[in-house]
Amino acid sequence: MNPQKSADRRSAIPRTDTLLADPRLVRAADRIGRPRVRGLVRDAQQHARDGDLLPEQVLSHVLAALPTGPTTLRPVINATGVVVHTNLGRAPLSPAAVEAMTLASGYTDVEYDLADGTRARRGRGTIDALLDAVPAAEDAHVTTNGAAALVLIATALAQGREIIVSRGELVEIGDGFRLPDLLTSTGARLREVGTTNRTHLADYAAAVGPDTGFILKIHPSNFLTVGFTSSVSVRELSGLGVPVVADIGSGLLHADPALPDEPDATQWLGAGADLVTASGDKLLGGPQAGIVLGRRDLVTVVRRHPLARAVRVGKLTLAALEATLRTPQTRVDQALHATPESQEARVRALVARLRDADVDATAVPCAGAVGGGGAPGVELPGWAVRLAPSFAAALRTGDPSVVGRLDRGFCLLDLRCVPPDADPSVAAAVLAVSRRLDGSPCT
Ligand SMILES: *Cc1c(COP(=O)(O)O)cnc(C)c1O
Repeated sequence: MNPQKSADRRSAIPRTDTLLADPRLVRAADRIGRPRVRGLVRDAQQHARDGDLLPEQVLSHVLAALPTGPTTLRPVINATGVVVHTNLGRAPLSPAAVEAMTLASGYTDVEYDLADGTRARRGRGTIDALLDAVPAAEDAHVTTNGAAALVLIATALAQGREIIVSRGELVEIGDGFRLPDLLTSTGARLREVGTTNRTHLADYAAAVGPDTGFILKIHPSNFLTVGFTSSVSVRELSGLGVPVVADIGSGLLHADPALPDEPDATQWLGAGADLVTASGDKLLGGPQAGIVLGRRDLVTVVRRHPLARAVRVGKLTLAALEATLRTPQTRVDQALHATPESQEARVRALVARLRDADVDATAVPCAGAVGGGGAPGVELPGWAVRLAPSFAAALRTGDPSVVGRLDRGFCLLDLRCVPPDADPSVAAAVLAVSRRLDGSPCT
């Protein structure tokens, strides 16, 4: 380029102070800090110097680059039909849990007795809510997640000793994490018994000895073994004279007829488990947490172990978990139990709205899933809006972001996990994408 022209263009680039004085950037600096806004200004000026932007485009480039909210996490409308979607943050919190977190977000009496002005048991309201929900448990403890609950129990009850576990239950829970590695990382030894498909009571009985810390029963929550299989029930294991720790994973506290093969905490404690562990953000429908329920003496040992301090939950988790336990119906429950009839009516209304605007949409029956490594093989009958596949990526990157699923060459929007009051947002997102796709020559 002509050096004179290039110099002219450089001098036309708005100066940093001028840009930072723009009222919109002043407001942005109040929200996200002046250094970050200045960084975005410098980036845009550099683009202009490099010839990628015209000088008059610098300000609008900065405005477009400003973060829209206080976090880079973006809300997503989950139209996948997968209720506990790990990549989408697992359980969505109920309005009561959100309100509880807001209330607890400032100073709060999380471990303080306001009447006496003294220290109190941390999170006692949450423990009470757990014990009210599961009367079969004598005591309860909360950790940062289900994996932490297992690590804490293994450390407190079996460090330097043996955990007896069936070879059919040594599961990988996702993203390459395996329960056997997690357990042995504590310094406990695994005493594997039985085979992949069959383990008998006699296998466990033969392994019990002076080195036994506990027997671990893991619900293989993310796969099914079918055919020539057998496993030993918690009731049978509870007769072997050593503690039985049962990992139900999902977090169901009571039996759910919609999920007949999922064990629940009440059932396994009733069958004689000494401790039950579960996640807070799967079928329980609450925040990320690990839950330990069972015998008071064992919960006390676990709770008092030094490692407990390293996997302690914050006040926000305690607040959200308590509210989740007290709320009559969580959003996970609503999604799991949404009837095909109610979903069909919503899907047909949405399709009619889209067709009015000439979008090629069809109402189709589909199957949702529990997800989150829970209830493998269970299909939840529902309905979806079927769209051309080009909608999938455009809806994901739109605002609001809508994540559907691709099925046999179509983009399906399953409304099971979409709160009914968000149906108009889904319609608006599809209409916006359809206008964008119509306008672009290559789709
Ligand atoms: C999900 C799961 C875990 C891990 O729980 P996180 O809360 O994800 O740490 C452990 N065991 C089983 C059986 C699970 O399903």
